[in-house]
Amino acid sequence: MKKYQMYINGAFFEGARKETLESINPSNEEVIASFPKASLEDAREAIDVARLAFDKGEWPCLSHQERGQYLLKIAQAIRQEAKALSQIESMSTGKTLKQTTFIDIPTCASTFEYFAFVASELKGETIPVPAPALSLTQREPTGVVASIIPWNYPLIMFAWKIAPALACGNTVVLKPSQFGCLSILELTALIDKIGLPKGVVNVITGDGKELGPELAANPKVDMISFTGSTNVGKEIMRLASNNTKKIHLELGGKSPNIVFADCDLEAALGGAMSAIFMNQGQMCTAGSRLLIEESIHDKFLKCLIEKTKRLKIGNSLDYTTDFGPLISREHRQNVLKFIETGVKEKASLVCGGKIPSAEQFKKGFYLEPTIFANVENSMTIAQEEIFGPVLSVIKFTSVEEAIKIANDTKYGLAAMVWTKDLNKANMVAKKLQVGTVWINTYGGFYNEAPFGGYKQSGIGRELGKEGLWEYTQLKHINLDLTEGGKSLVTTWFG
Ligand code: NAP
Ligand code: MG
Repeated sequence: MKKYQMYINGAFFEGARKETLESINPSNEEVIASFPKASLEDAREAIDVARLAFDKGEWPCLSHQERGQYLLKIAQAIRQEAKALSQIESMSTGKTLKQTTFIDIPTCASTFEYFAFVASELKGETIPVPAPALSLTQREPTGVVASIIPWNYPLIMFAWKIAPALACGNTVVLKPSQFGCLSILELTALIDKIGLPKGVVNVITGDGKELGPELAANPKVDMISFTGSTNVGKEIMRLASNNTKKIHLELGGKSPNIVFADCDLEAALGGAMSAIFMNQGQMCTAGSRLLIEESIHDKFLKCLIEKTKRLKIGNSLDYTTDFGPLISREHRQNVLKFIETGVKEKASLVCGGKIPSAEQFKKGFYLEPTIFANVENSMTIAQEEIFGPVLSVIKFTSVEEAIKIANDTKYGLAAMVWTKDLNKANMVAKKLQVGTVWINTYGGFYNEAPFGGYKQSGIGRELGKEGLWEYTQLKHINLDLTEGGKSLVTTWFG
């Protein structure tokens, strides 16, 4: 069994108290590896070295192009080790190999490549001011950034946080989830070989409840960038007020997927499936509320159930698997409780809902892909983020009703609209209170385009130039140009 170590100040380290946690393969419950359970002392050490690397180190003083070269080397290493990284990502999280091979690993590399070349987006402005003066803005790094990320896309989340932070000249302490840290520790070993200056990237592993509050509250941290549940995000916000640190939050969702009768039915069916069953529904942008126009409702639902029943459930490392296990026994239990609640609240369970019964699923955290019909938007299963493969199907009769239902939620991460009438699609997109609208598609993420939430789905944006700017602070430099060098303020008191 491999024993991983965490990474502080350019060295691998087992942690001051030498305690460990184990990583379990969700497909068969085998223990794959151990990794350090960091203490608060370790977290503070990581923050201190990141502080030193920022305040006294060369990193923030390098040119954007020089930092970009490091990011390119990271991307190159990811591409070279793509096969091994996708294997470990799939084995440790239950993500299918098809997904990690075609989505997670290439996305991770391309995010580093994108942010390696964004120097032009870090430019400032010359501002015309009503005085004989030159006013300039410039973007400077924020300082020490703490990042906390979830287990559903460990390597992609790592890239989304680390690449823009480094491109701007910040130093970072990152804490992955204890349920998804092995791939990140593998990648950290690759980054170590590239020779980043010490203390620029630090990765601590352990229990989020213990380490997270320290990262959020520690006054030596200038910014906290968190991706995870809305409840933990609220707590992070409260703790960050300790030193009014900058906050960046990517939180939960309950995204509506609106299917109008005039859509391309085949495309909408495929899109609806991907939106709720990719990654076993463990996606912040999961289209977990499927709003179907009444005239096609019955036909659409029937096809959806048939297609869902054909999904091949299995070990995440089997390349032909469509649908792997959930991340952990505990998480599966939470999802099963929501299914129970759906039944109690009288939604119709029309597909799945159970642990699959075949012998091969006795070990592992498998759950059938699940569909509820006749759901009212006020029901628990339509309001709470389940973060699993549970779809709530809701019927609507008019465009206005669809928009009303779609917006009737505390979340505002994403929405999907399926129709051939592009004027209607555009009108609906404008009225949806969400950060991303996908029209006739699902899951279009691009390094170049901003991603983030409205309402309780978050604060700030990831990716794109806006995502880069999150990791900067803006300085105004004002140079007086009064003839003779004496502006009004210098003679104010005579
Ligand atoms: P979570 O329970 O909120 O955990 C997220 C991270 O916070 C993990 O690293 C976790 O560590 C840590 N953590 C746990 N308790 C903490 C505390 N009290 N203080 C500080 N940190 C703490 O979320 P999750 O279950 O991992 O992931 C699912 C959630 O993430 C969903 O709500 C999903 O929508 C959201 N998500 C959002 C986006 C987005 O971009 N908007 C993307 C992906 C996921 P441990 O796991 O080690 O305990
Ligand atoms: Mg959790």
